[in-house]
Amino acid sequence: MSIDLKDKIALVTGASRGIGYFTALELAKAGAHVIACARTVGGLEELDDAIKAVGGSATLVPFDLADMNAIDALGGSIFERWGKLDILVANAGVLGVISPIGHVEAKVFEKVMTVNVTATWRLIRSVEPLLMRADAGRAIILSSAAAHRCRPFWGPYSASKAAVEALARTWAGETQSTALRITSVDPGATRTAMRAQAMPGEDPDTLPHPRDVAQTILPLAGPDVTETGKLFVIRENKLVDYRMPE
Ligand code: NAP
Repeated sequence: MSIDLKDKIALVTGASRGIGYFTALELAKAGAHVIACARTVGGLEELDDAIKAVGGSATLVPFDLADMNAIDALGGSIFERWGKLDILVANAGVLGVISPIGHVEAKVFEKVMTVNVTATWRLIRSVEPLLMRADAGRAIILSSAAAHRCRPFWGPYSASKAAVEALARTWAGETQSTALRITSVDPGATRTAMRAQAMPGEDPDTLPHPRDVAQTILPLAGPDVTETGKLFVIRENKLVDYRMPE
């Protein structure tokens, strides 16, 4: 399915690599101007080159999502330059550590919560008025099966993703009567740096490429989304309704 995102402004966090990088590229290919955020300037510049190569355009915003004032300032800058935001992809995230809960260092736990949860809330707060100024705002929030499966040793990450889903569903309820549509997506195991950190013994070639995941996510940025507050999982390059485990 091809989607026309001409004249749309899309903000993607965690755009320097992995799922965020390829989602930003797909959005740009569909015609959106991409505001690409992450800390790694080299990764953002590589994305910029890739976007230019397909005839698209991007604005690079290198910053650390732990900087809450920078998140607030980003909303102000987007308002001044474009007056609206059509698409938010809240994708940036960290795994933290795979460890028994009682052994997790406080600074690691706090970092996972800061980047995955607090920054997502702060981003929502910063850009919600801009999404409301768009004709049909779309927010796509990256979650994980870890939010529900709560595997042993994945405590900080699981707790953070459960919190992110709760934020997304709450926000969807609050904005149900508006044109904004909010979706959470569990991309499933994907060939990225985060997955390699979590599963160092796994052969990455057995996993879907983030490009395929990004192409599957793309329709959630488009006009056909009617429901809000839904959680999808990606299975075999398809968006599937999530069913809670028994
Ligand atoms: P990744 O390859 O590790 O990329 C993570 C992105 O987040 C990078 O661009 C990174 O950029 C950015 N980021 C991390 N900390 C940041 C910070 N403090 N400030 C700003 N940006 C920061 O991860 P991924 O696998 O693509 O994951 C993307 C999303 O999918 C995450 O929310 C993850 O939880 C979710 N997910 C992934 C999988 C999987 O198997 N890969 C499965 C389920 C869910 P910089 O380091 O340049 O800042």
